[in-house]
Amino acid sequence: MHQPRLPFRRPDPAPPALTLADLRREGLDLLCRCRLCRHTGILPIAMAIQHHGETATVPAVRVRCAECNGRAVSVQPYRRIAGTQAPDA
Ligand SMILES: [Zn+2]
Repeated sequence: MHQPRLPFRRPDPAPPALTLADLRREGLDLLCRCRLCRHTGILPIAMAIQHHGETATVPAVRVRCAECNGRAVSVQPYRRIAGTQAPDA
């Protein structure tokens, strides 16, 4: 048997969290989606950095839903596609 031993392997293989500076470099914004009312909105990366700093990671960004004021909002990187509308409004 040639099973390599990986000590202290974590069960969740989550990739390292991106920082807001990473997103800005990649030209990404943040897509916020409320788990309660399903309201979605785009948080411009410049605004996110203004509030949280460019070393903040994406999971560390906490926003409130503009619709129901709830805190159960998931945040993920979002690439605006030229010529399409953001899924908010
Ligand atoms: Zn909401």
